[in-house]
Amino acid sequence: MKAAFFKEHGGSDKILYDEYRDPVADAGEVVVRVMACALNQVDMLLLDGRFPPPEGLPHVNGCEVAGTIESTGAGVKGLTPGQRVVIFPGFSCGACEYCLRGERTVCIRYGYLGAHKDGGYAELVKAPAVNVVPLPEALSFESGAAVPLAMLTSWHAVVTQAGVRPGQTVLVQAAGSGVGSAAIQIARLCGARVITTVGSDDKIEFARALGAEHVVNYRTQDFVEETKKWTNKRGVDVVVEHIGGETFERSTYALTRLGTLISIGSHDTHWGRLDLRHVYSKNLRIVGTNLGSIGELRALLDYVLDGRLRPVIDRAFPLKDARAAVQHVLDRKNKGKVLLLP
Ligand SMILES: [Zn+2]
Repeated sequence: MKAAFFKEHGGSDKILYDEYRDPVADAGEVVVRVMACALNQVDMLLLDGRFPPPEGLPHVNGCEVAGTIESTGAGVKGLTPGQRVVIFPGFSCGACEYCLRGERTVCIRYGYLGAHKDGGYAELVKAPAVNVVPLPEALSFESGAAVPLAMLTSWHAVVTQAGVRPGQTVLVQAAGSGVGSAAIQIARLCGARVITTVGSDDKIEFARALGAEHVVNYRTQDFVEETKKWTNKRGVDVVVEHIGGETFERSTYALTRLGTLISIGSHDTHWGRLDLRHVYSKNLRIVGTNLGSIGELRALLDYVLDGRLRPVIDRAFPLKDARAAVQHVLDRKNKGKVLLLP
């Protein structure tokens, strides 16, 4: 098959488009023909070596895949070739202490499609059959590929971990990102009011259209000051944070007492300081979260089908132009998800 892969770490120029080993479905696995694969920030970390692929190089990125069943391994029931599917990107063992507690995203043998295994920047990809979720006919492959990582992570963060309720206020960092564009919509669906940040003025209208009431350009404005102004000095109940560094630190200053900072990524840097006086004196909660459950993914697809949530797609590139697609994300030009299509 053809795939876009890399043999050494670096920038988008390290991505090659060429022949690659065909995936073969072992017992309990399926091979999926990729009809759409979404790019993610984690792809950039894998590519530049900040999160080296555990199985080594060469490696195929791509954790958000929609496609059709190509073949099934021994013992796979209920899935037939040609069936439209989305792949749930998290792998777990089902047997460790955390899996037994129902907390599969913190499985001690946890892995991601496109990180711990080859992913969807390819014509074919394989996954455990238990990770496969049917994609409704009424949803496009493009929409399907925009849901299973970024949108699911935001859903789990806002709904399950932060428990956002009507009347609350939420600060979402980086409206232009996949998680940001999803978190704004989901917080609104929960009945909250939303303030968000963007890195350029041309993204302000985009963020408003998603439901943000107030949009801050973090390059020209101080988001803590703006959040305080917007909430009449009170601060917000919840911050959805995925940047790291100073943004992580300053996000705690934007919280009100008893507020919750949800950490769902570290796209700029893995490190962040905290002024602990704020944490204990205001009784803040700092909550880490990753991905969500297959049950939540199914619920999300229902909301998308109903039109109550909208996967935000910036643009699609052909698979052979994966290098340009990655550079587009690295340049932060995207408003929402960037896709690769066969
Ligand atoms: Zn486990």
